[in-house]
Amino acid sequence: MILVSACLLGENCKYNGGNNDNPCVKAYLAGKEYVAVCPETFGGLKSPRDPAEIRGGRVFLKDGTDVTEAFRAGADIVLEMAKKTGATEAILKEASPSCGRNLIYDGTFSGTKIKGCGITVQALLKEGISVKSEQDLEKEQNV
Ligand code: SF4
Repeated sequence: MILVSACLLGENCKYNGGNNDNPCVKAYLAGKEYVAVCPETFGGLKSPRDPAEIRGGRVFLKDGTDVTEAFRAGADIVLEMAKKTGATEAILKEASPSCGRNLIYDGTFSGTKIKGCGITVQALLKEGISVKSEQDLEKEQNV
């Protein structure tokens, strides 16, 4: 079983009301068992919503509102789903404050990316679940 960011499958759950539809991810999943997850939706956040970034291990909106608990709640639900479905693998959206695997925005809302993982990815890796981003997958598949 593979966990997949719902926005990569075309679901309009992204902060701006859109999605990150990804043909490479869809092709990879063809014939495989997978489950779509959106930790931010699971955590109670609506779409569209204000963008959020991680700073000092917590998650903030641009206006300074601390939304860490919603992000953690969403991560807990994804982790629970991983355990229930026996998922050992995840393909998640790079640079998201929930789903980013290798990169996150630096918390200054200036478009600057730094090395790091989103809140859900941190939780999954801690449980030994293998996580790659759609960009990792594209590299693997030479897309
Ligand atoms: Fe996509 Fe993850 Fe953001 Fe949901 S939380 S919109 S699945 S990147």
